[in-house]
Order: sequence, then C-alpha cells, then structure tokens
Amino acid sequence: MTVITNHMPTQELQALDAAHHMHPFSTQDALAKRGARVITRADGVWITDSDGNRIIDGMAGLWCVNVGYGRDRLADVASRQMKELPYYNTFFMTTHVPAIALSQKLAEVAPGDLNHVFYAGSGSEANDTNIRMVRTYWAQKGKPDKKVIISRKNAYHGSTMAGASLGGMSGMHAQGGLPIPDIHHIDQPNWWAEGGDMSPEEFGLERARQLEQAIHDLGEDRVAAFIAEPVQGAGGVIVAPDTYWPEIQRICDKYEILLIADEVICGFGRTGNWFGSQTLNIRPHIMTIAKGLSSGYQPIGGSIVCDEVAEVIGACEFNHGYTYAAHPVAAAVALENLNIIEEEGIIEHVRTDIGPYMKELWTGLMDHPLVGEAKIVGMMGSIALTPHKESRARFAAEAGTIGYITRERCFANNLVMRHVGDRMIISPPLVMTRDEADILIERARKSLDEAYRQIKDEGLLVAAS
Ligand SMILES: *Cc1c(COP(=O)(O)O)cnc(C)c1O
Repeated sequence: MTVITNHMPTQELQALDAAHHMHPFSTQDALAKRGARVITRADGVWITDSDGNRIIDGMAGLWCVNVGYGRDRLADVASRQMKELPYYNTFFMTTHVPAIALSQKLAEVAPGDLNHVFYAGSGSEANDTNIRMVRTYWAQKGKPDKKVIISRKNAYHGSTMAGASLGGMSGMHAQGGLPIPDIHHIDQPNWWAEGGDMSPEEFGLERARQLEQAIHDLGEDRVAAFIAEPVQGAGGVIVAPDTYWPEIQRICDKYEILLIADEVICGFGRTGNWFGSQTLNIRPHIMTIAKGLSSGYQPIGGSIVCDEVAEVIGACEFNHGYTYAAHPVAAAVALENLNIIEEEGIIEHVRTDIGPYMKELWTGLMDHPLVGEAKIVGMMGSIALTPHKESRARFAAEAGTIGYITRERCFANNLVMRHVGDRMIISPPLVMTRDEADILIERARKSLDEAYRQIKDEGLLVAAS
C-alpha cells in the first residue's frame, strides 16, 4: 500500500530542513549532505516517514512516548484545555485546575512522602531547579557551604548549562565552558566496560563506595546532594550490578546529603513500576520527571519533592521559576496520560507481560556472535557489541564505529534502535504487543547479521589491544 504522506517530495523537505533548521546533537554539514529522515505520522509503536516506510520505533521517540502514538484522548484534552484556559502563570499567588489536579495525582503515584511538585518545561530545566533547590535548602538550614552536587561520569541530566554540568558526558563538557562550579563526578557502575577482573558484585560495591570516598574527600559539610539515574539511559542503558544501589542508599542514609533520582526516563512505567526508584528500592528526596510524564505529547517536566525539603523551601521566597511552569495544556495532557497508564494497566503490562517477554527475547540475542552482554530492566534494554565476548574486548576501530554501522542496518530494516558508542539500546513504547516485540527482535537480529557480515568484510572484526 502506498501512503501519501506529504505535500512535498522528500528531497525538497530535506533541502529546506538543511537550509534553515539546526539539529540538536548532530553534525549539521554531514546531515545536510545526507538528508534528514522526515517523519510524517505515527500510530501505536509505528512511525511513518515521508517515503511511506513503516518503521517500528524501538526508542519511543526519545524515550518518551510511553503510551504510544495516536492517542485521541490526549489530543482532545489539549483541544478542550486550549479553549477553556490556554495559558495562565502560577507565579503571583495564582493557580489553575490542571496544575492542581496533576500535582495531586503525582503525589498519589509517587512513593513515600514525595508529595510536592515544582514544574518545568523539560528534564533539563527541572535539574536546573534541583541544583538551586538543594543549595537553597542547605542555606536555609544554616549550611550555605553545602553546595557540591556529586554526579557520575557518563550520566545524562540534560543539555542546559546546569543539566550538562551535572551530566558526565565529556563531549558535552568540552563545549561551552562546562561544568559549572561545585559539581563533582564519580565513576559509573558500568561493569562490562570498566569492571576489569572484578566480579559484578565486587565492582558494584567499589563504584558505590566512591560516593563515600568523595564525601570524605570533599567534606560532608560541603556536599549538598548526590544525583543519579536509577538506570543510566543516554549513557547506554547501563544497569548497575545488584550490589550498587543498596550501598548507595546506605551511604546516603549515613551522611547528611540529599538523594536526587533522575527519573526522566525511568519514570512512568518504564521499569515496571511507576518509578525506577521503586524497582531499585531507593528512597530519593527529589525525583526529576519529564518525558513519560506526558508521553511526549506536550513538553513538561518537574521535580517531585519530599515533605522535609518542600517545608524548608516553603519558608523562604524561592526566586526561581519558568513562564511555562505547570502550563495548563501540558498539565492537562500529562494528567490524562497518567489516567491512561492507570486505566489500561500499562505498568502491569510492563511488569508481568511485555517486560518479561521482551527480557527473554532480548537476552536471547546473546547467542549472536557480536553480542557480549544483554541487559534489560522493564522496557529499557541494551546490548554490548564486542569482537570477543570472553574478554569483554572493545573493537580496535574508534569507539562507536561498529555501533554506527549496526544502527544504519537497523534503519535500513525499518527499526529505530540507537547506538551509544558500541552499545545498542532500546526503549520502546510500553504498549508494545508480543507480536510487535517479535518483529522488533527479528529486525534487530537481521540488522546484527548484516552488520556482522559488513564489519568482517571491512576488516573491522578486530579487538583493541
Ligand atoms: C532526557 C533526559 C533529561 C533531559 O530532559 P530534556 O527534556 O531533554 O531537557 C534529563 N535527565 C535524563 C535522565 C534524561 O534522559
């Protein structure tokens, strides 16, 4: 079936795009030569490009379209809200119903005493808020020197000055004068790449104890908070060894520092619970949210804050806020999205049905000659590509070369699967069916086979010495 998806030929759209649209995280020149893929419509877990290809979206857009595409309910709520009250601010002693209703709902689904929400337009902005909030918290408590935020290398916390500083991506720090002061990074719990001869359990403890060491080195009286993603997403879906999070929690309990869980990806069902913190049994003081909060249908993010921090912040004027904080249309859509998640039992579906099914298929990829380890939590998974499994070898080719080749094969086979270096990652819509999971894996396997043949032919199947 030919689908007429556009009013303009793809090449014309690509030329216009290249002429006027600067893309994030891209080399503009190379992209312009090649032409961006133009996505025109989407439904369920499927996206369609301007040539009519139907592509299975293994990334839920950018880790966000948890309830899948094509939800009329969300469109209808947005339309209704736009007609009723398209915008009002929440700065000067005003509020509105969508903000009230969404905050109540988030307090209900968030664990423990995480009962208060400060809104932002995105995850990056929310992490900016978090830095200012935790520093203000300590200042209010008479400890203005507690300013340092400890984070992790290869973490992703957004792309603003503060978000990228919290993040541990060296390529991002290299541009624009980052990180900002008083951010400290410890090593990530990536056993496959960095575990050496240690068992995963030993390594998990060693990496967690770097937090304790950093607190000692910096001084407990200078450390404000530790921030981490329950499962590192953009860093390559790095799942910490089982020993890691209990030890991190022990350390956070022992010292007077706040724990911030960046739930921007892990939240809203991705790991089989409302939040990754529940799956990994951690008790944050603040959770960063965005992405799945609205399933990407509207830009909205925020911080869910515990009683104690909210109370201390509440006693002063917090000189911080975004024009679009708790935007009524975004808030109304987010609330409806949470209702859909609840009514359709989407979290159950991840925990008891599609998650376990996907885990079986995903870990089954380990029989492929290129695949060293396969990790998956709920519906976020990764595989490590390697020329030699037993020694967990890296490729001799520049990091990312093999991942890129594999990603290109996936695209050619109408599957969106991203690569981070030489790891392949998936994070599909949570509403995926078993049949669709079968298709995803079938296309992944085909792409891996083709990549394997190609790198053998090109002499790239060589381990780094
Ligand atoms: C995507 C992401 C962010 C940034 O969110 P934006 O909405 O892109 O600003 C922050 N933290 C994590 C863990 C993310 O995955």
